[in-house]
Amino acid sequence: MKISPETSALFERYVIPNYRRFPLSLVRGEGSWVWDDQGNRYLDFFPGWGCNLLGHCPPAVVKAVQEQAATLIHVPNTWHMEAQGQWAKMLSERSFGGQAFFCNSGTEANEAAIKLARLHTPRGRYKIITFEGGFHGRTYGATSATAQSKYHDGIEPLVPGFVYAPFADLAAVRAKVDGETAAIMVEPVQGEGGIRFASVEFFAGLRKIADENGLVLIFDEVQSGCGRTGKWFAYQTYGVEPDVMTLAKSLCGGIAGGAMLARPEIAKSLRPGMHAATFGGNPIAARAGIATIETIEKEGLLQRADQLAELFFRLLHPLSSELASIREYRQVGLMIGIELRDDASRLVERCMEKRLLINVTQGNVIRLLPAMTMTDDEVREGCEILAGELRQFPA
Ligand SMILES: *Cc1c(COP(=O)(O)O)cnc(C)c1O
Repeated sequence: MKISPETSALFERYVIPNYRRFPLSLVRGEGSWVWDDQGNRYLDFFPGWGCNLLGHCPPAVVKAVQEQAATLIHVPNTWHMEAQGQWAKMLSERSFGGQAFFCNSGTEANEAAIKLARLHTPRGRYKIITFEGGFHGRTYGATSATAQSKYHDGIEPLVPGFVYAPFADLAAVRAKVDGETAAIMVEPVQGEGGIRFASVEFFAGLRKIADENGLVLIFDEVQSGCGRTGKWFAYQTYGVEPDVMTLAKSLCGGIAGGAMLARPEIAKSLRPGMHAATFGGNPIAARAGIATIETIEKEGLLQRADQLAELFFRLLHPLSSELASIREYRQVGLMIGIELRDDASRLVERCMEKRLLINVTQGNVIRLLPAMTMTDDEVREGCEILAGELRQFPA
């Protein structure tokens, strides 16, 4: 595992070191495989940090982007673009009938949701309840919404008005609602927090609290949405609808894109001039987003995600009774978390040496966000490598 001295020198001198980068320079991807600049091939159980739910370079997305790039790359939102309207319709029809605002990332989608919630509720209502272990992005509003102190160290003061509650604790939420509360914002499945979910009762309870108090219920589905859980959106596994939902990551099959969907009666509070994103919903993102939805439907990938999820479960879950090093195994569709008793960061490099790419979050949770286009053999191959490494862990 190495990269060329030239590439390494470029990064050392010219790129801000805000990421911990592994000594691997990737040059090509196809499906669940990527190649480094030394010609090595890796099986990717974490393609694109959750963005490449269709695998690397899905052909329909590649084609749509190529065609659109040669036709019209970007025009601002001062004009209509048919593809953006079609894309909004497709997202709306697959969720709760909302209207869309488009942007370029998850954090931006959440900023839009935060602004909308404050705009929609009466003046003086500004507080937004979010949850410990949650993650909402890196811009100031979204970082302030993220109830993890490690992301706040040294960058305070944060945006005021965020109130943190323990995840899955309904009584705590109820106690935190007051006359200044505008919204509740929650991930249906905490991703970065370590693949943590709560009961149907918890989400139904949030819905009830929101209804009783006139609050906007925002679901951050940036990681859990767009088919990741075998449903279009993770909230559909709970059967509890939000008022506002944010999307990004796998929304455009690997192209940058984000969206906020809001019930029409709430969406109208985002009046002209109150919010914008210059590149939001641009023709390339729109075409990529449409191609992503079409691919998932044409190829029956929601059902396939269920099958793959079952296969992962069958192969990996038994390890949690076999190995004392595993504290808990958690999975919702193609979101898989294996919590270990010890720090697991070194497993990323160990698997990389065996040509398998994985992620570790929160220090001790192996996180897999595999593509819904994997073959059974690919799943088996990767799980065998991972199981081998886990059996030697923590040695
Ligand atoms: C990744 C993520 C974000 C931030 O998305 P960016 O595109 O990196 O801004 C927000 N919320 C959740 C749940 C995420 O997983």
